[in-house]
Amino acid sequence: MSDIKKLKEDLFYQRKNGRQISDEKTLETAQEYCDGYKRFLDNAKTEREAVKIAIKMAEENGFSPFQYGKQYKAGDKVYFNNRGKTIALAVFGSETCDNGVNITAAHIDSPRLDLKPNPLYEEIELALFKTHYYGGIRKYQWTAIPLALHGVFALKDGSLKSVAIGENEDEPKFVINDLLPHLAAEQSKRTLAEGIKGEELNVLVGSHPFKADEGSELVKLNILKLLNEKYGIREEDFLSAELEMVPAYKACDIGFDRSLIGAYGQDDRVCAYPALTAVLKVENPQKTAVAILADKEEVGSMGNTGLESDFLRFVIGDLAKSQGVDSTVALRNSKCLSADVNAGVDPTFQEVSEKRNASFLNYGVVITKYTGARGKAGTSDASAEYMAYVRNMLDNANILWQTGELGKVDAGGGGTVAKYMANLGVDFVDLGVPVLSMHAPFETTAKLDVYMCYRTMYEFMK
Ligand code: MN
Ligand code: MN
Repeated sequence: MSDIKKLKEDLFYQRKNGRQISDEKTLETAQEYCDGYKRFLDNAKTEREAVKIAIKMAEENGFSPFQYGKQYKAGDKVYFNNRGKTIALAVFGSETCDNGVNITAAHIDSPRLDLKPNPLYEEIELALFKTHYYGGIRKYQWTAIPLALHGVFALKDGSLKSVAIGENEDEPKFVINDLLPHLAAEQSKRTLAEGIKGEELNVLVGSHPFKADEGSELVKLNILKLLNEKYGIREEDFLSAELEMVPAYKACDIGFDRSLIGAYGQDDRVCAYPALTAVLKVENPQKTAVAILADKEEVGSMGNTGLESDFLRFVIGDLAKSQGVDSTVALRNSKCLSADVNAGVDPTFQEVSEKRNASFLNYGVVITKYTGARGKAGTSDASAEYMAYVRNMLDNANILWQTGELGKVDAGGGGTVAKYMANLGVDFVDLGVPVLSMHAPFETTAKLDVYMCYRTMYEFMK
């Protein structure tokens, strides 16, 4: 090797394609790990479903609900269920919490179409649902695809009726119709953002009129009769419901080489599943390990199930109290990985990324030092010291990683839960998986990156 080449190798920072430098065993393990991930995606299309599955998996792995006033010992495993929409799972460390807790945080809500409180109506003898979109979607992407209905009706007697229609082969699905190109001349003059407007996201749910001699709204009446038979609900019960339209298809492999995954809701279940499966694997850690799967990130983390609330502060407080130590000290000494996706460079739309500082599929987990927009506004910028800690941990564990910014300067921007974690006074950085078509009804990730995310979460909490 020439001296110059050697010097280059020594001094330059160079990223490499993970599939080229990984051994067969790693690639195979990644493939297998992602089979479990795909099943999770199919069964956890809403935050409520994700929490249900997380609890089931946690209990199978020795976790039990945290009990206030109980004394816990090292290695004990507990979880905190916040209203069935956010969950924190913890494994007690051999050191008490005042020495710091290792926290991983991901979110389990994804962009979708929520039904309005009074959704059902009839037009020209067709029944439809009015929706209000949740999170940042490109509205035109949600038309003419099969949709499934998920959620709950909360009834006045206190009971909860779960709904999931459209996931199984033999179940009906739903659809938002769009204009045919032949008659779309006027619509086609709209900007892409306005191609389909919010009030045009109306979901077709039926066409069969109730048999009667006379009367209007007979299709709507028939739909209500069917819902009444199945769930015991009346129209008024929509007012105390949370019902969501999500894409009705399942997760699948993408590409001849099966190296990629296509699915709805990968932002941010592509980090939530690794955080969950990692904390379930943690045994007898030195520091207490906490994984939190949160709701409401896509709408700003507000509300009592979002991470802007005091939920996590109280979780750490409860853990600390159960050991008779101070929770403020515990938080001050804690570390966090805020696990969320970043935008991978898209081969067709490379111009929105600055490629020296963007993330690529198959290059491993992406560390995002800061997010925000217009001069980093609204971000919490991770410290150089903590970046050093994280990259040292990753290198020591031989985990593939890269760094990434969300797009070129002033091209746009985004945010994550990182700033709410930072508000607790813990050290933190964003770390996750690069995604293509983020927030679309069908998002793409690379299997190797998903597996590296799992390895990172485990390494951090073990
Ligand atoms: Mn996200
Ligand atoms: Mn998002």
